[in-house]
Amino acid sequence: MAIQHAPSTPTRPATQVDRAHAHDVSLDDTFDFLNTDDTENGFPLERLPTLDASLSWFVDRGVIHLEGADRIRSQAAADPESAGRDLARVHAVRAALWEVADALAEHRPPKAGALDTVNRALHARQVIELVPSDDGCVAVDHRHVGDPIDDALARLADPLVTELTSGRPERIKICDNDRCRWVFYDNSRTGRRRWCDMSTCGNRAKAARHRARQAQDATGDQARAD
Ligand SMILES: [Zn+2]
Repeated sequence: MAIQHAPSTPTRPATQVDRAHAHDVSLDDTFDFLNTDDTENGFPLERLPTLDASLSWFVDRGVIHLEGADRIRSQAAADPESAGRDLARVHAVRAALWEVADALAEHRPPKAGALDTVNRALHARQVIELVPSDDGCVAVDHRHVGDPIDDALARLADPLVTELTSGRPERIKICDNDRCRWVFYDNSRTGRRRWCDMSTCGNRAKAARHRARQAQDATGDQARAD
């Protein structure tokens, strides 16, 4: 599901206009971000347990420049409390986006606070501006403002907004497997997919049903034998 990104070009300070770097973030990236709050064998598994891990993930997905991440890392080393706040912010926006996705999947209003948190994140997005282009005319560009983490979170929230405004938000779903609960996009023809992945969660569900049936049959056989 991961989308390949062109490698970032971490050579200029993040505050400068960067013409080569488009920062395309897809809905899959957003879902991958939400699914970093993961489970394994039914137990919660946090895939972004530290600020450092979060920054690496953001750089990997091209939503933070390497030097922006390094700046935050040195700030974090000097002020561990701010690092804790930054990590809490990443987790809070992720949880709020997950809540919005779950609300969409279940056709219910999101819990109080989730929209405020997402909206705060959206307001910190990049600024679009016009600049002279290399061919002597005008081009659209963006300038990084404020905090790189805010910017990254805004970028990751963006595809969900786009899907709501011009996509098919009814296709946003949560995997039916209680031990998975991944957010996924249902691109099936009928729009009735229940599992993030048929070959894992779908088969697991079928296998579980099969086992339950077998157990039931065995109990029935036992009852008859008695
Ligand atoms: Zn699943």
